[in-house]
Order: sequence, then C-alpha cells, then structure tokens
Amino acid sequence: MRRLEGKRALITGAARGIGRAFAEAYVREGAEVAIADIDIARAEAAAREIGPAAHAIEMDVSRQDSIEAGVAEAIARLGQIDVLINNAAVFTAAPIVEIERADYERVFAINVAGTLFTLQAVARHMIERGIRGKIINMASQAGRRGEPLVAVYCASKAAVISITQSAGLNLIRHGINVNAIAPGVVDGEHWDGVDAFFARYEGKAPGQKKREVGAAVPYGRMGTAEDLTGMAIFLATAEADYIVAQTYNVDGGNWMS
Ligand code: NAD
Repeated sequence: MRRLEGKRALITGAARGIGRAFAEAYVREGAEVAIADIDIARAEAAAREIGPAAHAIEMDVSRQDSIEAGVAEAIARLGQIDVLINNAAVFTAAPIVEIERADYERVFAINVAGTLFTLQAVARHMIERGIRGKIINMASQAGRRGEPLVAVYCASKAAVISITQSAGLNLIRHGINVNAIAPGVVDGEHWDGVDAFFARYEGKAPGQKKREVGAAVPYGRMGTAEDLTGMAIFLATAEADYIVAQTYNVDGGNWMS
C-alpha cells in the first residue's frame, strides 16, 4: 500500500534539490504533484523526468500575484491541494557590517513572505473545500541559533519556525496540520553557493567548508535530500493527524553537537 495514494501536493522550489527529491518520493508513494518554481525550464525538465503524475508550474513565491496564480494553476491541474510543502528559499551570508538592506529584503520576501502567503493561499483553498490538509514548511537548523556570517538566513528560518507555530495553532481548528522540517546540512547544488560564500568570507578553498561541516555531523556525513523524504511523507499522512505546530530536526544529530 503506497502511503500517499490519491494525495495531491504542491511543492515550491521543487525544480531541484530537496524539493525535487520530495516530488519524486511523493510520486513513488502514489501522489500527484505540482512542481512550482521560479525556474520553469528546470521545473519542466523535472516534471518530464518524474513522469505524468508531476506537473510543472511557474511561481515566484516572493510575489503575491505569482503565488495566487501559481496556487490557482495547481488547483486547476491537480483538482485540489491536499498537501503543501513550502520549500522554496534562498541562502545568503555576510558579516553583520556588510549586510545590504536590499539583500535582506530579497531573502525575507522569498523565505518568509513566500512561506506565509503561499501557506495562506493554500489554507484558504483547503478551508473553502473542507480539505483536512497538511502543510509542511522547510525550516533549518539555522533557524534555531544564530551563526556569525548568516544573520539574515538564520533570522528568516527562525521566522519560518515561528510561522509554523502560529499557523499550526490557528489552522488545526480547520483540521489542517502545519508542521516543519529542520534539516542540518544537506548536500546538493545549494551547497555550492554556501561554499562560495565561505570561500569569500573565511578564505576557504572551494569545497573546504563543505568537507568541514560534513565531518562535524555526528552521523558522519552531510545529509542527502533522500534522508529527509521519510519525514516529509510521514507528516503528510493521517498518522500525523495529532501532530500540530512542530518543527522536527532531521539532521544526523548536527543540532545537538
Ligand atoms: P536549492 O537552492 O537547491 O533549491 C531551491 C529551489 O527554490 C530552486 O529550484 C530555486 O529555483 C527555487 N526558488 C528560489 N527562489 C524562488 C522563488 N522566489 N520562487 C519559487 N522558487 C524559488 O535548495 P535546497 O538545498 O534544495 O533547499 C530546500 C529547502 O531546504 C530550503 O527551504 C532550504 O532553506 C532548506 N534547507 C536546506 C539545507 C541544505 O543544507 N541544503 C539545510 C537546511 C534547510
């Protein structure tokens, strides 16, 4: 028995990385998915590779009109949305004295407003149709504590954890569960960008930061996107009905170390 048979899921930022792995895992478990991404060419390629149960949708989560159009298109293509994974986000790093306001506003528009207003648009749809839906936000270990060069990204992920708590408490009265996953360090293209920031600010050689963080994880290596799929599937099932407003670490013990 596949665990997500008949479920219809909208996953933002799913053209690559963790979001794409979620889309693949959801389809394997019997779901139909909308792969929503600002990079439509890559979303279309991902949908083609995953197969007929995956649909590509162009969506920029930093823009309200694009969120509304993207959610409407997902509803039209899927019939309804039972599960939302708010996964789209961007990373940034800089010493405090070098943070630029425009970069702060860009990151908060995507990571925070993007999460909140996509959640809002989908929650309205779920309430209107009486859907007992599941909403999963992608937080981060970075949202649990500050890091010297990562103030803006850390603050944005702390906001995601906070939104998960408030939205979770508010929406459970409609039968909608809102929870979050907090990964530690997950290998993928995202990390090429992270590595480049640390090369710039800490004088690291290319790949050095990535090797260092991987070696420091108690499990013994960086995470992979596939390490997160079990939690993303579980939180979308009826077995998770009584789980409300939580953020789960899936991080190989990184947060505790
Ligand atoms: P990634 O950079 O590989 O993928 C992010 C995707 O989001 C890309 O496909 C990108 O095109 C899309 N995107 C960017 N801006 C967008 C916008 N405005 N609208 C729509 N889509 C947009 O990232 P990832 O490593 O797969 O991370 C996925 C999630 O997990 C993010 O929320 C990230 O913060 C979180 N996370 C990642 C790690 C890690 O180490 N990789 C750790 C903790 C948390």
